[in-house]
Amino acid sequence: TDFLDRAELGFAGSPGVIDEPRQPAPVVPESTYGRLGERVRAWQAGFDALGVGEGERVAVVSHNSARLLELLFAVPMSGRICVPVNFRLKPDEVDYVVRQSGASVLLVDPELDDALSAVKARHRFVLGERTEAELMRFGVEPRPWANPDEDATATINYTSGTTARPKGVQLTHRNIWVNGLTFGLHTRVWERDVYMHTLPMFHCNGWGMPFVMAGLGVKQVVLRKVDGAEILRRVEEHGVTLMCGAPAVWNAVLDAATAWRGEVPGRDRVRIVCAGAPPPSKLIQRVEAELGWEFTQIYGLTETSPLLTFNRSAPADAELPAEERARKLSRAGLPALGVKLKVSDAGEVLARSNVVLESYWDKPEETAAALEDGWFHTGDGGTLDPDDGHLTISDRKKDVIITGGENVSSIEVEDTIFSHPAVAEVAVIGVPHEKWGETIKALVVLAEGATAQEADIIAHCKRRMAGYKAPTSVEFRDAIPRTATGKVQKFKLREPYWAGRDRGVN
Ligand code: ATP
Repeated sequence: TDFLDRAELGFAGSPGVIDEPRQPAPVVPESTYGRLGERVRAWQAGFDALGVGEGERVAVVSHNSARLLELLFAVPMSGRICVPVNFRLKPDEVDYVVRQSGASVLLVDPELDDALSAVKARHRFVLGERTEAELMRFGVEPRPWANPDEDATATINYTSGTTARPKGVQLTHRNIWVNGLTFGLHTRVWERDVYMHTLPMFHCNGWGMPFVMAGLGVKQVVLRKVDGAEILRRVEEHGVTLMCGAPAVWNAVLDAATAWRGEVPGRDRVRIVCAGAPPPSKLIQRVEAELGWEFTQIYGLTETSPLLTFNRSAPADAELPAEERARKLSRAGLPALGVKLKVSDAGEVLARSNVVLESYWDKPEETAAALEDGWFHTGDGGTLDPDDGHLTISDRKKDVIITGGENVSSIEVEDTIFSHPAVAEVAVIGVPHEKWGETIKALVVLAEGATAQEADIIAHCKRRMAGYKAPTSVEFRDAIPRTATGKVQKFKLREPYWAGRDRGVN
């Protein structure tokens, strides 16, 4: 609650939220924080009129938009629970989330409405002018902010389903608050910043940003669709200073920058935060050299609101050779303030902090399995550097390849393959092998105009890493499918090779 309160009190006349591309006026006019407050109250009065009670779930499936942002405030701040839904899900997957969360209201992006027309809920509204006319109650005396208890559930964020059917992660008002403060502190957010949403706001990585940015009076640009050239254009137009996105987003920006006429905008001004997947060190080097944008890495999970660690170059590292600095930055980083980390004997990263979830929605067994004496099991393998305390994620437990009894991190192999100049994208998986149990396969997308043979990639790896870590086969593909947050769903890539066979940890 405090975040919007503060924005209304301190920054009522300051620029608030801008949709890009802009919605035709006057639907969502370029807004101030005062205007944002009014619209949020009007949504709440609408839910009151509709009879949506406290604790009831309101599901929203939408691309990034100012309306989605308003709802991220309006629903929890009135004591209801927001369920932001991944816009890429198929209708039956959306149906699963709506049913599993027991949502009584479903709000749908007009662009997705046709596809989702079969998804039934008690109330279904298409986000747009008509819904606003029907639902938003401007001028009606709205309830004061409900001021929900810190321990009350604010949202249920579903995991991306990279490893299994999405689970609803219950996050509380305290989680929002602590996550926002930590992000604000570690990335030095202040009122002169201009934040652009390049992460999908339905996902936990992007969901927390509107709160901290509003609370600190930062102008927010909501980018509907993420595209490299579009990002550069909007950075220039709005004087953007801060963005957050997966490695795939920064790759796309680097591609667009090579075709950009003139100097790339934001040099020495823009700070980017890389989240959601491990960034190869070559990517970090290129961002620093070709864009001149400051690079910070964060690591976390939906279950941890999401922030657990930050990594930004220490001032003393400025003297290091670029390659060495990038290698240090490719680690997940130091625990954020208030986070405790440890690595179990089995090599799994465990976290303790008040950003950790209370429970999964209606899944007591999964909750019990994930939490042990207050420590959350991340499912990620990792190591803590004994000298400087930095965490390195070696791999998701389920993606580690066990070949001939040796554990191989798919991330390490990907990083090595990515350093080959012809490689634009890569995913490494384990496929069945009669003698070794599994063997390493690389799926590679070549850079435009580049050529390379399977043998070149394998030889490149063998020169740089132990022989058993090198792929035994390389397949060239046109693209590697990713989730909306830029993650590779390796279980899906593995499927065709394992059909009918048990991998043990799938
Ligand atoms: P599901 O739990 O359904 O499989 P998911 O794991 O994709 O979905 P998220 O919460 O979106 O759910 O992703 C968290 C995971 O993303 C982490 O456990 C980790 O494996 C990976 N990740 C996030 N940030 C980083 C990072 N900086 N470096 C390495 N891995 C990261």
